[in-house]
Amino acid sequence: MRIAVVGGGAAGFEALNTFISGKIEAELTLISDEPVLPYRRPALTRMLAEPVPDAQFYLKPDSYYRDNGIALELNNPAVALDAADRRLTLKDGKEITADKIILACGASSRTLPLKGAELEGIFPGRHLSDFTAASDYVRLNGVKRAAVIGGGLLGLEFAAGLVAKGVDVAVLELCPFIMPRQLDEEGGRIFMAAMKKVKNLSAHYGVHVTGFTGKGGKVAAVELGEGDAVPAELVIWAMGAAPNIALAEAGGLAVNRGIITGRDMQSSVAGIYAAGDCAEVDGVVSGLWNPAREQGKVAALNIMGEHTEYTVKPAAARFTGFGTRLYSIGEAGGCVEGVEREVSSDPAKGVYQALTRRDGRLTGILLLGDVSAALKLEKELLG
Ligand SMILES: Cc1cc2nc3c(=O)[nH]c(=O)nc-3n(C[C@H](O)[C@H](O)[C@H](O)COP(=O)(O)OP(=O)(O)OC[C@H]3O[C@@H](n4cnc5c(N)ncnc54)[C@H](O)[C@@H]3O)c2cc1C
Repeated sequence: MRIAVVGGGAAGFEALNTFISGKIEAELTLISDEPVLPYRRPALTRMLAEPVPDAQFYLKPDSYYRDNGIALELNNPAVALDAADRRLTLKDGKEITADKIILACGASSRTLPLKGAELEGIFPGRHLSDFTAASDYVRLNGVKRAAVIGGGLLGLEFAAGLVAKGVDVAVLELCPFIMPRQLDEEGGRIFMAAMKKVKNLSAHYGVHVTGFTGKGGKVAAVELGEGDAVPAELVIWAMGAAPNIALAEAGGLAVNRGIITGRDMQSSVAGIYAAGDCAEVDGVVSGLWNPAREQGKVAALNIMGEHTEYTVKPAAARFTGFGTRLYSIGEAGGCVEGVEREVSSDPAKGVYQALTRRDGRLTGILLLGDVSAALKLEKELLG
């Protein structure tokens, strides 16, 4: 059997690893548009602050791919998919026909086509190349002030990394409080109070970024409309990620927000699977590391003839930084309606707990400051 995996992220890697563990007799090919071997994407934010050793960064050393006979097409993205013939065309013109294909193409940073967005110094935050380019830019240009567009979990991790590097950071958030998916209003206030104590961090809520101004072709400030501007010599987009569905869509696979799959991770075309941030199962695009790995594994097991299903379940968001800790899962965000909330709050200590219930059943957990109850409560929620 010939199996082609498109994308060397969490889902693609886990699929390959499942084939190897299961001692499948197959020709395995990994196709990636990145020039490097699969790595831990969540470690990228840490990289803004400090070097991450290779052993902690890469999922496996190159000997793993060599010893297991995995053919590597790095820096050579799939540019076309002929779904009927299960044939992929790569950027260099090579064609790969496979018995089974797993699309594990992940997602791309959302950006906006704003005035000045082409200026130097404005980076997406998705790939290793984005982070090495941003870190080099900070060093080479002596960047003192940066702006992060988006006050979600990822935006705050970018901000924490840059602050640790001694850069002054402004977080720009459209909503009236931070991390609206993970926090409710009171939790948001307590978290924002913790952020206020960080010396070189500022946060602007309820603001619309309208464009960028530059100097000598390099970004110098982010415009917020009505004459307001935040000076920044480096800008990072952190407005979330859009699933990479173009290859599948052009190949005629059913897509919605992501590539639509069944719980066996098979797409609308038999023999072609999708997994990870590019896949949509039961209407949900997960956007997180562990679900991506699990989906890659489920796709591989089904290809190996072991019928397995992926079940969508809530995944926890965790954050440690700015002198506080956050744990949030399920219906914890403030925008959720029709739920009862049990709240206990000690703003002076920066401690907050909100448990959300529907018909008495625990559906959301938000812990701030003290996250020691997370494991026990998570067990109850996942039940
Ligand atoms: C900076 C950062 C920090 C994060 N931190 C966390 C965290 O703390 N916890 C958490 O749960 N999640 C975190 N996430 C999200 C998590 O990393 C993703 O959910 C996970 O990586 C998804 O895995 P994936 O394999 O679906 O996609 P990806 O990891 O995005 O991998 C997809 C790969 O496919 C490649 N590709 C795309 N198109 C093609 C093509 N046509 N041909 C070949 N290759 C292609 C992409 O370049 C990429 O290398 C973070 C994400 C980022 C960006």
